[in-house]
Amino acid sequence: MNTNLPDTPEEARAEAEELKRLLSYHSHRYYVLDAPEISDAEFDRLMQRLIVLEAAYPALVSPDSPTQRVGAAPAEGFARVAHHAPMLSLANAFSDDDLRAFDTRVKNGLGTQQVEYVVELKIDGLAVNLLYENGRLIRGATRGDGQYGEDVTANIRTIRSVPLSLLGHGVDIPPLMEVRGEVYLPRREFDRLNELRSAAGEPIFANPRNAAAGSLRQLNPQVTAERALDIFVYGIGWREGLPAVTHAETIKYLCKLGFKTNPHYRLCATIDEVIEYCASWSEKRVDLPYDIDGLVIKVNSLAGQETLGATAKDPRWAIAYKFPAEQATTIVEDIIIRVGRTGVLTPTAVLRPVRVSGSTVSRATLHNQDYIREKDIRIGDTVIIHKAGEVIPEVVAVIPSRRSGAERIFTMPSVCPDCGGEVVRQSGEAAHKCMNPGCPALLREGLIHFVSRDAMNIEGLGPAVLQSLLEAGLIKDAADLYYLKEEDIAGLERMGTKSAANLVSAIAASKEAGLSRLLFALGIRFVGAKAASLIAKHYGDIEALRTATVEELMTIEEIGPKIAESVVGFFREPNTWRLIEKLKKAGVKTTEEKPAADAPQPFAGKTFVLTGSLSGMTRSEAEAAIARLGGKASSSVSKKTDYLIAGAEAGSKLAKAQELGITILDEAAFMAMLDRQ
Ligand code: NAD
Repeated sequence: MNTNLPDTPEEARAEAEELKRLLSYHSHRYYVLDAPEISDAEFDRLMQRLIVLEAAYPALVSPDSPTQRVGAAPAEGFARVAHHAPMLSLANAFSDDDLRAFDTRVKNGLGTQQVEYVVELKIDGLAVNLLYENGRLIRGATRGDGQYGEDVTANIRTIRSVPLSLLGHGVDIPPLMEVRGEVYLPRREFDRLNELRSAAGEPIFANPRNAAAGSLRQLNPQVTAERALDIFVYGIGWREGLPAVTHAETIKYLCKLGFKTNPHYRLCATIDEVIEYCASWSEKRVDLPYDIDGLVIKVNSLAGQETLGATAKDPRWAIAYKFPAEQATTIVEDIIIRVGRTGVLTPTAVLRPVRVSGSTVSRATLHNQDYIREKDIRIGDTVIIHKAGEVIPEVVAVIPSRRSGAERIFTMPSVCPDCGGEVVRQSGEAAHKCMNPGCPALLREGLIHFVSRDAMNIEGLGPAVLQSLLEAGLIKDAADLYYLKEEDIAGLERMGTKSAANLVSAIAASKEAGLSRLLFALGIRFVGAKAASLIAKHYGDIEALRTATVEELMTIEEIGPKIAESVVGFFREPNTWRLIEKLKKAGVKTTEEKPAADAPQPFAGKTFVLTGSLSGMTRSEAEAAIARLGGKASSSVSKKTDYLIAGAEAGSKLAKAQELGITILDEAAFMAMLDRQ
């Protein structure tokens, strides 16, 4: 957690304003649209940073600050209903220390050293308030902003486990009572729903929580009824009369009334017991048929709860312990091989789909044979995965205690799965390679790269279409794409005249992409989008590369011997020039304007780091824009970084930049900065 404070109150205010803006934006996406753009962990990080700033500069606290508000106002379309007692959020604990600090606060608040806690699972759904009058359900509402929620009674009634009238097995039923619970979607139902949505071409839900919220907040109850929502009830918000004196008794009481309560709660006499119980769920939770995002710790005595009271946002008698979100446990169902465009065989783990940091992961790269051997990853193993570098999932470790003995050790194939060619591991290299230069995988993968977004950016030309073009014998190299005719394409499976016409015009448009993209698209070993752009700017014309030397290339800043040698080797090949001539003949641009010597350089001397994804441009486009204005794009955050551009799903780099007090720009701010130049 970033606890460094800005040097001046002005800086703190600016940072807080930016955080408030970001948090409001993401709350709206999460609570109102049920379509979050960032992970919960990321949201929590932004919130914690604002809490730190507001604690240090209390003048920054305003009633509209996200730290002071619960959820979001009820959406239009639903009747707005007032809760009898406010529905609050929960403060968060992310570590054992946070839990101990909570314990100390509670003990100080109650003036006693003996406090009993109830620890419950924190169901990842959405809170609802059920109003019962003389034992009959008369209203069901969402939490909304805590004071007012949305009236979703008709939808709540479709949930079979919500009692419409209470049982009262030998217990009194208060005349009026608000029961609080969490509506959730079991994982299996979530998968089924997303399969249906994806088959229907509708956007899929990011996680079961959003799917549950989207299903309950439906204007048509018929839709809600079709989704198997469920509920766990965990408390009484308000009632006339006091049927219980402890929270544990309340749970039992609710059970007797016919509510579905969660069986996995524990009464703990000490905070050590609480910590132990929380830890015990970090792995066990994967076996539950529904998602939990942590545990909730509550003071057991209701009188104690009353004494402690609440802040504007959270009760002081409860806290949510949140699991670290970046890791998840799943099973390696298979290990498959993908042959890349350089012939390298990359083993990939096929995982039982699991959510990590807000998205579903079903593949993880295993890099090479050595990596698999070192980690001893076997087919059938239970593994812990996390997202490395913010996006690419990786296997962190195997859990050997979960082995049944049926796991299979993986070995690299000795022949290429694509062409049956010989597979060789050259000495000193970690990679196994297919040695057949005519391997169809090389051509296919090379083409996929050629048309990709950062390369020639040909829209509508995905792997499936490329595969059909290859199978039909319509293309044998990248240049053939530019000679395709509408009638050739229209004859392919799943292609109509309209899509054929669109494709031909997308291909034609890509002729203007310019030398930077073309050099990258050619797939020269070690030449990424950035190096391609530097080389293109330096030479301006592909013809100049005929005579380029290693020494000459190395005069370009950031081009080292490895790249230089690879470029020279590539342009020494007669095949390279045959392809280039064919591209030129088709009208593909092979030049790039060199920046004018007197072009303004407003970003000169400034270093930018990009993290997360931008919606309006690709990462390489952003880097190119920075370079054009004289700035430098770097990949890691350090004290020398001037700006961090944080796109959606920004991760550890954002946290590091905040820690170092680096100016953070979101996409809009970065765009505005470019516009000003
Ligand atoms: P919360 O989810 O952290 O905790 C409060 C909620 O926990 C309650 O309202 C209730 O719904 C739920 N809960 C589940 N089991 C419970 C139990 N046994 N007892 C009591 N409550 C239980 O807080 P919140 O205010 O609902 O949401 C804030 C969280 O939502 C953030 O911490 C973040 O993780 C997530 N969020 C994410 C985004 C995003 O863009 N990804 C945006 C906004 C909020």
